[in-house]
Amino acid sequence: MATNLSGRGGAKGESGGSQSSAQAPVMRGVALLGSTGSIGTTALRVLERQRHRYSVVALTAFSNEPLLREQAERFRPSFVGMVRSGGNGDWRSGSECLTEAASLPEVDIVLNAVVGAAGLDATLAALERGKRVALANKETLVVAGELVMETAALGGGELVPVDSEHSAILQCIGSRPVTEVRRLVLTASGGPFRSWSRERLERATLADALQHPTWSMGRKITVDSATLANKALEVIEAHFLFGIPYDRIDVVVHPQSVVHSFVEFVDGSVLAQLGVPSMELPVLYALTHPERLPDTGVPPFDPIELSPLTFEPVRDTAFPLLSLGIAAGKAGGAAPAVFNAANEAAVALFLGGAVAFHDISRAVEHALDRLSDAPSASREQLLAADADARRLVSELFDAC
Ligand code: NAD
Ligand code: MG
Repeated sequence: MATNLSGRGGAKGESGGSQSSAQAPVMRGVALLGSTGSIGTTALRVLERQRHRYSVVALTAFSNEPLLREQAERFRPSFVGMVRSGGNGDWRSGSECLTEAASLPEVDIVLNAVVGAAGLDATLAALERGKRVALANKETLVVAGELVMETAALGGGELVPVDSEHSAILQCIGSRPVTEVRRLVLTASGGPFRSWSRERLERATLADALQHPTWSMGRKITVDSATLANKALEVIEAHFLFGIPYDRIDVVVHPQSVVHSFVEFVDGSVLAQLGVPSMELPVLYALTHPERLPDTGVPPFDPIELSPLTFEPVRDTAFPLLSLGIAAGKAGGAAPAVFNAANEAAVALFLGGAVAFHDISRAVEHALDRLSDAPSASREQLLAADADARRLVSELFDAC
């Protein structure tokens, strides 16, 4: 069970350094994995403003060399890694550059903004070494939630969410014990297809799916938000981060994305965290938790301008991936890893124009039917289930 988000532990290396003392603030080293993506570039805007508190020690990306070079010139990290590197001087390459960056002794915080299960090993490496992982890469917890939480407990590492819903929940729970929480209610924008009929959804195109109404994000999570697979991933993420059983995690559609989630306590009181949709605040909070630092990243809050704030039930029959994902979470074992991998594979095919929108849920269901009972006792077995699920999805469409 996740107990390391209580807010009482403080950050590693942060011995209650009071801001009112005359001492210079403690500088903390950050490895930013996935620096060229949507969260990665958002994080660099935050880190640029907070240069007096955080130094960028390592940057990694997949293949966007021009942007990574520009970032490296601006932030001068001692480590740069590009997975698909053609051999750039002293840059590291290959997928192992992620774990190398996450393991550097001068790194206090690993901001994992990689997309997909590819981020898992770096999370494990950082937690084993007692570091903080500021986690945007929610797939990590879906593929191997138990292993990740055990690794954090054994290594003394700390997971702090970047996802806006989970950041909201963490901020609402504060230092209260989890036994005082009755229920979590995650908000969901509903995505671009919130009000589309099932018939119309059959004809949804890639361009339609990429038109997110409130957030500008990477392509994979944007599609996940259109299918609501993203919310299933987030329910599983919340289960592991906060140690709350699935039957006490609900989802409500909130089209304005201003209320980032609710926490209902055992006495019936409900707290929510609000703000205009911007990932800058949850990124900053994942660095500073449990402290808050002055920052200007989020536009001023004007409740009148943001009103009305509305809430509606999820149409789960129109978006089968939400219930499939939550059922996979409840089943446990390899099922969440299979759900995630099949979804990643099917979304990649959809993004490449090879399959239709409704094929994504069809593929995930197909993989779950066949692989949910796969062995799941170790990282290797979970990664084998992940690989099998990807293969099943590709075979399903090759056969068509
Ligand atoms: P993105 O596609 O914009 O960026 C992904 C980054 O990961 C890029 O820097 C890319 O180079 C790197 N990357 C991709 N594949 C890789 C691989 N195989 N190995 C190493 N690096 C690889 O994605 P994003 O929208 O920034 O999302 C990143 C993560 O954050 C996802 O897990 C997503 O669910 C989560 N998240 C994103 C948002 C958002 O607003 N974008 C909000 C909440 C959570
Ligand atoms: Mg989210």
